[in-house]
Amino acid sequence: MNQAQSAPSPRLLPPILLLGVPGAGKGTQAKRLAQRYRIPHLSTGDIFREMAHSESELGKRVWNDMRQGNLISDDVVCQVVVERLDRDDCRGGYILDGFPRTLPQAVWLMDFLESGPRTAVRVIVIYLTVGYNDLYRRLLGRRSCPTCGRIYNDFTQPPRQAGVCDLDQSPLVQRKDDDPAVIRERLSAYEQQTLPLVEFFRGRGSLLELSGAEAVDRVTERLFAAIEQAALEPPPAGAA
Ligand SMILES: [Zn+2]
Repeated sequence: MNQAQSAPSPRLLPPILLLGVPGAGKGTQAKRLAQRYRIPHLSTGDIFREMAHSESELGKRVWNDMRQGNLISDDVVCQVVVERLDRDDCRGGYILDGFPRTLPQAVWLMDFLESGPRTAVRVIVIYLTVGYNDLYRRLLGRRSCPTCGRIYNDFTQPPRQAGVCDLDQSPLVQRKDDDPAVIRERLSAYEQQTLPLVEFFRGRGSLLELSGAEAVDRVTERLFAAIEQAALEPPPAGAA
């Protein structure tokens, strides 16, 4: 291949990790990335739901914990994730959304990637940042369609007709956890957990910080450019 300037082949993409406060637009952006690079979008929520319904030993353990409302330990979370990453559709890269969530999970993941059977020389960690006020407003503006699940936002991604789904004309609803008090609580819990992760990846030279405060399409454009740039660069010094 002598056309190194064109978009990288999906085969060459390192794993992509998405970090960002709730409401920064991770889910929407992850779907777009998955489409463009034809790689799976692995959200921890989805992985866990699928695992909890499987017949495996691990699945039963997860199901029990979820049913009893127990906190799932880092150890179990990591086992579930590794089982998913081992599947064939992850060979050409993948997007992890919602994992790692804690510092031990991040350390574990890097160890797995550096020494496990599915070695990756590097990862691309995207940190979508949004200022507190923007974020607050944005979470308050979030609406979803009870029929098809599509998510809208009065500020950043409004439906064509206010309050109504573009696809099926259902009246849009606000999620219970998008209420102001719950939002404040979630944001502070998130900061406590995630800032150490951000520092961890920054220290390894693999963090791309990107403002998620702009219009969704603009963020997507920047994201594509940043990922394609990062994929072409040599691994950071000190990486395996
Ligand atoms: Zn709908």
